[in-house]
Amino acid sequence: MPETPRTTPRTIVVVGTGIAGATAALTLREEGFDGRVVLVGEEPHPPYRRPPLSKDLVKRALTPERLRLKPPTAWQELGIELRTGTKVTGIVGGVLECADGSRLPYDRLLLATGGRARTLPYAAEDDHVHTLRRLGDVPALRADLESGGPLLVVGAGLLGLEAAASARAAGLDVTVLEAAAEPLRRVLPARLRHAVLDLHRAHGTQVHTGVALTGLTRRDGVLVATARDGRSWHAHTVLVAAGLRPDVELAARAGLDVDDGILVDALGTTSDPRVFAAGDVARYPDPHLGRRVRVEQWNHAQQHAAAIARNMLGAGTPFTAVPWSWTEQYGVMLQIAGHFTDADSLAVQGDIADFDFAALATADGRPVGAVAAGRPHDFRSLRTVLDRHAGTPPRTAAHTPTVLPHAVLTGGRPEAAGTAGPPTAAG
Ligand SMILES: Cc1cc2nc3c(=O)[nH]c(=O)nc-3n(C[C@H](O)[C@H](O)[C@H](O)COP(=O)(O)OP(=O)(O)OC[C@H]3O[C@@H](n4cnc5c(N)ncnc54)[C@H](O)[C@@H]3O)c2cc1C
Repeated sequence: MPETPRTTPRTIVVVGTGIAGATAALTLREEGFDGRVVLVGEEPHPPYRRPPLSKDLVKRALTPERLRLKPPTAWQELGIELRTGTKVTGIVGGVLECADGSRLPYDRLLLATGGRARTLPYAAEDDHVHTLRRLGDVPALRADLESGGPLLVVGAGLLGLEAAASARAAGLDVTVLEAAAEPLRRVLPARLRHAVLDLHRAHGTQVHTGVALTGLTRRDGVLVATARDGRSWHAHTVLVAAGLRPDVELAARAGLDVDDGILVDALGTTSDPRVFAAGDVARYPDPHLGRRVRVEQWNHAQQHAAAIARNMLGAGTPFTAVPWSWTEQYGVMLQIAGHFTDADSLAVQGDIADFDFAALATADGRPVGAVAAGRPHDFRSLRTVLDRHAGTPPRTAAHTPTVLPHAVLTGGRPEAAGTAGPPTAAG
């Protein structure tokens, strides 16, 4: 990628008021940048936390006030110009063009445009077919759930499963349909994937995998999902949880390099040296995997954006952090770190079925991922191990037994883990 100019920027504009954009703006101020910072986003709300949207879908009030990252006055106090409800439509010659007709010149630009929920090409437009990405998606979905089931969730990724658990805990009839024979391959090793699906079944949620849906239409007043093999399911409400489409529109129109995300180098720079990208939308070189990845996780978006904001000010520090996240279903919290796509064995301490364990996945003897439930202390130790090993080339890595936390290795037993799936990690 071409080099970023060495002159100190006077105006930095951040597009996207998600956690990446918000963190970047805050980091610029923390780092002492005293120029103009503009944080502009399409959503009407000030920056807020997305993870509760699926976990607390039914049981708790999901209001902008309860979810917000900062009190409304904080942005102004920090000298951050927060412009909500403003879609950026173009980037032309160092100036952003906004849908409201305003124009924003910049010296450095950060694109933190995240992504949008994928939709299904075969699904009919219907008020009771929903997606869940933004706070604005919640009121209609929630109103539908409050009027009763059955709920059909299409997609058994973490978001779909969290929403399913939330609805099931509220007493709804819930069915989850998943196209893949083995859901969650990108985010969990095999034994843990099975344990999560078993947890759903034990709570009375129907989970069907390997379902090739061909239609989703309204018939005689109910929604009907039809599969290629002739099976069908009826529902009052459908949640399509089919993953994320990175929002690269603006970047692509501006001529930046995009390919399943905005392509950036280890410093976060795009193919234009004055423009950077961070968070869910950025596809960056991961030194641990030796290839580019796009990670869809809250903590990652936060850490990545903070690092890239520093680089926009000239820090010049490559981003190397190992991503980590969590999921919560039926009161069980799983903490997850690293990547599992290359893993070939899993050492487990504790009881997976009881969700009281810590596990470390390795590839060629090199630690690549960790998962824990009910053991936050072990999880922290495992993250330290992953961080320590980060970037070690697979063939030359010191082999694991001498460096792994004793608590995890004692009694650990190997397991062949699934290796397929795209190199992104879903949130
Ligand atoms: C329901 C739900 C639950 C989740 N739970 C977890 C979890 O438990 N753990 C976890 O690790 N992760 C979780 N995630 C994922 C996590 O929330 C995301 O990884 C994170 O929010 C990504 O932040 P971001 O800022 O990169 O992108 P986004 O949050 O997508 O923010 C991008 C922002 O950019 C704006 N934008 C886009 N284009 C434009 C434009 N042209 N002009 C102006 N604004 C624009 C969008 O409107 C949006 O507000 C969850 C996500 C969802 C949706």
